[in-house]
Amino acid sequence: MNVLENVEIFCPYCGEVFEIEVDSSIGRQHYTEDCEICCRPIEIFVQVDENHEVHVDVRSELE
Ligand SMILES: [Zn+2]
Repeated sequence: MNVLENVEIFCPYCGEVFEIEVDSSIGRQHYTEDCEICCRPIEIFVQVDENHEVHVDVRSELE
């Protein structure tokens, strides 16, 4: 069963906040998604803890 949650993240390039959908049935995820505003690739790290709370870290792909 997929449990999709909307999570607000901010873009590390342009600083804009937008929502992504996270599948909280998967404990750890790491993927890249393009910013909705500036279209640059954001690395997204998702972790779901034992209370099913979703934690999201974002990083710029280009250091
Ligand atoms: Zn952006």
